[in-house]
Amino acid sequence: MTSRESIRAPGALVLVQPAPAVSIEDLYDTVFQYQLFPGQPRRQHQFVGEKAPRRCRFCTGAAATFSQRCHVMPEGFGNRELFTLEECDTCNGNAGRTVEDQFAKFLAPIRALLPIVSRKGGAKHKPADGSSIQSIPGRPVRLEIHEDDPTIAVIARGDEELTVQVQKQPFNPMDVCRALARMGLMVVPGREFERLRYLVPWIRREVEAPSMLTQYHIPGTGLRWSSLVVYRQRQPLIGESPLVVAYSFGTVILVWHSPTPTLSAPSGPVFPAVGFSPYAPHVVERNTKPIERSELVPGTLDVTTIHFGSRRELSAEEAADAERWGL
Ligand SMILES: [Zn+2]
Repeated sequence: MTSRESIRAPGALVLVQPAPAVSIEDLYDTVFQYQLFPGQPRRQHQFVGEKAPRRCRFCTGAAATFSQRCHVMPEGFGNRELFTLEECDTCNGNAGRTVEDQFAKFLAPIRALLPIVSRKGGAKHKPADGSSIQSIPGRPVRLEIHEDDPTIAVIARGDEELTVQVQKQPFNPMDVCRALARMGLMVVPGREFERLRYLVPWIRREVEAPSMLTQYHIPGTGLRWSSLVVYRQRQPLIGESPLVVAYSFGTVILVWHSPTPTLSAPSGPVFPAVGFSPYAPHVVERNTKPIERSELVPGTLDVTTIHFGSRRELSAEEAADAERWGL
C-alpha cells in the first residue's frame, strides 16, 4: 500500500497507515565489520575470539584440538588474515567439506570471472570437460570456449561490457545460508553468541530451518574490497531475524536473514543494502528468496555481465553508500 487508505469491513472501519521505509540502522546495530583488499600486500593476522579458556563455538568437544588456522571469510575468496580462535579442528574440517564447499560452488563463476583473488594461479571454473574461465591476478580473464561444450558461452560483447553465460555446479542454497551464518557466529561478541546459540545445530546440518537470502548484482568490474558485516537486532521482535549477515565479493552482495529463535522463517523487511552502481547501467539487481529446504539445486545457467565502462560522478548520498561497499 503506497498511501493512507481505509478498508470497510462489516461492522468495522480499519485505517491502514503505510509503514515508513526502514533502513537497517533503524532496527539493527553493526556488531562486526571487516574489509579484505584482494590483491593487496598481506596485512597482519587478525584473530577474533578468546584464547583462554580455549573452546569451540560449534560443538561441546571436550577433547577438541585447535591446531589449524580457522578462516572467518573463506580462504578461497582471498582471506589470508582474519581467523577465529573459537572453532576446533573437527568443526573447521567438517565445515570446509560441507557448507563452505557449497558456498564456493555457489560463487564459483563470479570468482573465476573477476581477477580479484590473490592466489597463485588465480581461480578457475570448469563446469564440464571443455570450456573454462580462469582469472589470474594482473592479467585479463581467460575464457576458453569449446563450441561443443555449452557450459560457458559469450552471449554479448561490446566495448564496455561482456555478457557470459556460465553453468554453475549443483549447490545447496541452505548450505550457502549456513556458511554465512557460521561467519556471523564466529565474529559476534560472546554475549551475543549466547543469544544466537540456537543456530548452531542448524549450521551443523543437524536440523533444517528456513531463512532468507538476498543477492545483489552490482554492475561494474567488481567491488574494490570484499567485506563481512554482521548486524544484530536492537530489540527482539517476534517473527524477525535476530541476526543479519552481509557478505560482499566481486560484483555480488549477499544479505542473509537468520531464522527466528523458534527456527521459523523470518518476516522482517529486506534491507536495500545498495541501490545504484557508478557503472552503467547503474541499476543494482536484487533478488530475495526464502530458503526453506535443504536440497541440491541443479547447476543453473547464470548470466553475468561485467561492465568496463567509466564511472560517473556520485551524489553525496551515493558516495556514502559507495564508501560502505567499495563501489
Ligand atoms: Zn568444534
